[in-house]
Amino acid sequence: MLFRTVCCLLSVSLFVATGCADNAGTAAKPPATPTSGTVAKETSGEDSKIEAAINELSEEDRELAKAQKFCAVAATGRLGSMGKPYKVMVEGKPVFLCCEGCESEALKNPEETLAKVEQLKAASAK
Ligand SMILES: [Zn+2]
Repeated sequence: MLFRTVCCLLSVSLFVATGCADNAGTAAKPPATPTSGTVAKETSGEDSKIEAAINELSEEDRELAKAQKFCAVAATGRLGSMGKPYKVMVEGKPVFLCCEGCESEALKNPEETLAKVEQLKAASAK
């Protein structure tokens, strides 16, 4: 009886393991909508994802994105959390956004956007 149970567990875990490998694309996806309030807390998995996305940038851009750390429009949007940070030039200055969707907002108020970037850089330099 006991042996049978163990056997069952083994085959189940084997099945799960193969199932995971087969569906790696879908199974690895984190929940699409993070609940508000948990955004500030990143797991190490989130960090490595962000790191990888930022590493897609050129070396120069990478340093800027790391210094800015957060989207200049969506303050809670960690650069890299939505893939490669989106770079836009605002009055000749490079500004990083979490996604392309923030571009129009960033260009609408260039002064505000640049001020926000300075704020973000100052905050992350601490
Ligand atoms: Zn965005």
